[in-house]
Amino acid sequence: MTPAKSPSPKAATTAQPTRPAARKPAPKKRRAPDPAKKWASYLRRYRPGLVPFVLDGLTERYGPQHWERRLDPVSELILTILTQNTADVNAEKAYEALRAAYPSERAPEEHRPGIGWGGDGLSTAPPPDWSRVENAPLPELIDVIRPGGLAPQKAPRLQATLARIREERGAYDLEFLAELPVLEARDWLTSIDGIGKKTASIVLAFCFGAPVMAVDRHVERVSKRIGLIPEKATADQAHDLFLELVDGEHMYAAHVLLIHHGRETCHAQRPAHDICPLRDRCRMVSPKAP
Ligand code: SF4
Repeated sequence: MTPAKSPSPKAATTAQPTRPAARKPAPKKRRAPDPAKKWASYLRRYRPGLVPFVLDGLTERYGPQHWERRLDPVSELILTILTQNTADVNAEKAYEALRAAYPSERAPEEHRPGIGWGGDGLSTAPPPDWSRVENAPLPELIDVIRPGGLAPQKAPRLQATLARIREERGAYDLEFLAELPVLEARDWLTSIDGIGKKTASIVLAFCFGAPVMAVDRHVERVSKRIGLIPEKATADQAHDLFLELVDGEHMYAAHVLLIHHGRETCHAQRPAHDICPLRDRCRMVSPKAP
């Protein structure tokens, strides 16, 4: 029998131990770009100067807009809830009805609505007694605010909102919002059932001069027609798009001017392009407008 060959000493010394293959570093995950920032940089690149063009044109047409507080924040919040899905004049009727049904001893409040408001403005009178509104029997409160429309939905919303403020703050007082970073303040308000970004932004913009945009149907319509925001943006997304588009110091004026333009000129039906100061750069008039 041939003996089995033993491995040559050379082979034994030259055999390399198998090394584990070097691991490839895991590919870095790229963070998805913030859609609002992405849109703002697209506009700056392809339609430079559009935002100042719009603000300058509207300011020239309707006059400069200066912020001043128009109501106490709790009154503003309740009035804004009353405006949801109804005309401002109806909200005024409902608010006046609250004052009449639940009068308070507080100092009269003066409503300074400015041109962004679609009603006549509230009379100067004390705000309602919020404790009485919160504790009123629900059917009674529904009857009181019925002239404003959607009373069965809004009455429980008013009571839940007032209850939340009182329980968390110990009083019907929202002045603490001024101390919070603006988006935290917005989050606090939107954590209340039935309060979305629009209602929260109205309170913060009109009571504290905060740099947030309330996007109502007028702001949304006008902005989409001009091409300031994408056609497909939801109203919720539009609130955040504006934070990237407009400087904080111009946000209040931008809000008021866009609303007013929507009411006066850029109507939902038959917008008056011929007299519009924005027509040269409006994408509804020309899809290739600069
Ligand atoms: S040009 Fe017409 S559509 Fe464009 S903003 Fe003016 S009124 Fe509206």
